[in-house]
Amino acid sequence: MPAYGGGWLDRAGARRVDADWLAERLTDPASVVLPLWRDRCLVDGDGPVRLTGERASAVRAAAGETVFLGVDGDAAVFAVDLSALGERAAVAAASATGTVDLRALAGRLDPAGAAVQAYARGLLLWHRQQRYCGACGAAAVAGGGGHVRTCAGAECGRLLFPRIEPAVIVLVEAPGPPGRCLLARHAGAAEGAWSTLAGFVEVGESLEDAVRRELAEEAGVTVTDVTYQGSQAWPFPAGLMVGFRAVAASEQIRVDGVELLEARWFTRAELRERIASGRPLGRVDSIDHLLLEDWLGADSPARPSAVS
Ligand SMILES: [Zn+2]
Repeated sequence: MPAYGGGWLDRAGARRVDADWLAERLTDPASVVLPLWRDRCLVDGDGPVRLTGERASAVRAAAGETVFLGVDGDAAVFAVDLSALGERAAVAAASATGTVDLRALAGRLDPAGAAVQAYARGLLLWHRQQRYCGACGAAAVAGGGGHVRTCAGAECGRLLFPRIEPAVIVLVEAPGPPGRCLLARHAGAAEGAWSTLAGFVEVGESLEDAVRRELAEEAGVTVTDVTYQGSQAWPFPAGLMVGFRAVAASEQIRVDGVELLEARWFTRAELRERIASGRPLGRVDSIDHLLLEDWLGADSPARPSAVS
């Protein structure tokens, strides 16, 4: 299963509009509060801080936005945003030892912990970026447990919901034997880092349309047989990665030289050789890694633990 998803928390959507229930949960000593600071986890030692009781009340008093994430067993789970504070003040308010980017904790956090932190990070970022109505410019006021903002403009009153920006990510197979897949070196990527191709879905496109267009634009490759493989929550900052496999109509490649610097076909033997020499297939927390692992098949060597 890809990192950052998995439905670990009961999101309890119906409770978001139950103001009395939310107010009671906020003073319930069993409720858990996760503090974040400017997209970063507040950590105590190795793991993210989870506050309850008086420490939860204290951090809420210091926080900007408080959002309701859901219910974990009997405990309501909230996230609070300490971004208005300086880093040192945020660390102190959260009884933490420091701040860490969530992706730097990849592979060390349990899947549920990583998913809940990603959810909190994405939702709190949306609040910081949606303080005003885009239509009339009036302030937008948070409600619904932090899952909606309402424009306060007298003649507007628009409801604003958290934004998700979908992107497709594609493992393209060669049209004939031997079995090969298309990988590319992306502009700005680390030296020697090859990965599958990806791009944002544009207005008026289906996901499959986006796959065909991205491959044609960036690599000059026409693809057929576009099939869904799986998806990954990617709130860095607001993405949803949708994974596909597709088959190229020909082996010809013509990279755009802007987004892609180079692309070529790799056999399974070549990829296994890269893994054996300590060069992992993408970051361990990304769906890119899973698409490649799936393609390599069940007989592939053990997943490397390093992160490129
Ligand atoms: Zn408005």
